[in-house]
Amino acid sequence: MNEQDSLQMQGLLRRAGFEKSTNPWDADLILLNSCAIREKAVHKIYSDLGRVRLIKEEHPGLILGLAGCVAQQEKENLIKRFPFLDLVFGPDAIRHLPDMVKEVRMRRGGSGERGTTNYPPVVRTCFDSRKDFEFVNLLPHEEENRVKAFVTIQKGCDNVCSFCIVPRVRGPEVSRPANDIVSEIRQLVELGVKEVTLLGQNVNSYGKKGNGISFSQLLERIDGETGIRRLRFTSSHPQDVDDDLVEKFRTLQSLSPHFHLPVQSGSNRILSAMRRHYTREDYLKIIESLKNVLPAIALSTDFIVGYPGETEEDFSATLDLIDKVGFDSSYSFIYSPRPGTASFQLADDVPMAEKTRRLEILNNFQRQISEGKNKKLEGTVEEVLVESYSQKDKVWMGRTGTNKIVHFTGLSAFNEEKIIGEFVNIKIIKANPFSLMGEQTRTPCTEESGFASSELEGSLHREQREREGI
Ligand code: SF4
Repeated sequence: MNEQDSLQMQGLLRRAGFEKSTNPWDADLILLNSCAIREKAVHKIYSDLGRVRLIKEEHPGLILGLAGCVAQQEKENLIKRFPFLDLVFGPDAIRHLPDMVKEVRMRRGGSGERGTTNYPPVVRTCFDSRKDFEFVNLLPHEEENRVKAFVTIQKGCDNVCSFCIVPRVRGPEVSRPANDIVSEIRQLVELGVKEVTLLGQNVNSYGKKGNGISFSQLLERIDGETGIRRLRFTSSHPQDVDDDLVEKFRTLQSLSPHFHLPVQSGSNRILSAMRRHYTREDYLKIIESLKNVLPAIALSTDFIVGYPGETEEDFSATLDLIDKVGFDSSYSFIYSPRPGTASFQLADDVPMAEKTRRLEILNNFQRQISEGKNKKLEGTVEEVLVESYSQKDKVWMGRTGTNKIVHFTGLSAFNEEKIIGEFVNIKIIKANPFSLMGEQTRTPCTEESGFASSELEGSLHREQREREGI
């Protein structure tokens, strides 16, 4: 969501006459987009602010802004702590960015020239009412990626998960009108976009506030009316998965065979404490229906490890759930108490060493499962959407419909521009936990292959090491 917000801010500024600078020391305006979901991300943005402060000291006329969820949460307090900020605004205020920049320039004396510093900063952190909220809708610029695009269909969240800061920083849930979404995706298709990811904090509760059609109906409209080749969505809440949505994986051609469905814990006691409103049995039932409808569906999820009061037994229930579902991948995090959330009041009683131990066990277990699933793809032929080419490694990169990264060779590097954005058949020759390696083939069916490229392995190992933070 933050990535999409940053793209929209770039687009709005471009329209207001700004150009992207590759050197922050040359910039007239620097905006940092912040994330408040975990303490680590908040510390990171504070340390980034310390670094850009040096640029501001050298160029006092630089407009320096902090956007995003930390800005929304901390509001004016940020100005006390970082008095050199010119602009502080939350995610709801993005569409007002050009006006806010104008306001900063006016306050510093109208000219907008560098050198004037004595003026009050602009702070905008109020939420628009549901009825007044407007979605920013900018198509990707020609310099930007036109293979894949995000389309925001909903903002905010009306749930109260005990650990989550999102409802406080992104405000109430608002669904975007279906006609706007369909029209935007049609335009993206005309620009050559092949894959669209529908975005929302709780994407599958789309339309539940009585503003028209349901999420499943929206998927159906997009599939039938836009011509998009691949459709994805994130993030979903298990409580809002219904039979209609499950059925769409059988009936809609564009809907990718991948479902990211955050579960957070496999223990009913912890799920209840987290106020998630489903049990592990409910979750497993959804997974069973998804597998019935589409046996090859890829599944991914999120886990929080070390939530207050999590016992060894609760943690074992999480491992057991991983085993039962057989996730293709998962994103796991150590519980991070966030001020303003319900669980912040609870004693953070699982020691850090124990949290770290559990995270490591979980990640190792997940890695084994991911590797086992990927190994089954060795020798098969997968349809891959080509996303990029590495001149350095002489390797192409793309993704399967199941959202698995594939590094491959066999295409001519001379046609780079033409091939990026195309679908190609790739024979999988080697599988690893986090990605696949392959080569292009004209064969649209599965067959065995013992070929392995050391060049590809080198690239893969680099990626694996990066993911593991080595
Ligand atoms: S549904 Fe998701 S965004 Fe909403 S409160 Fe729960 S975790 Fe946060």
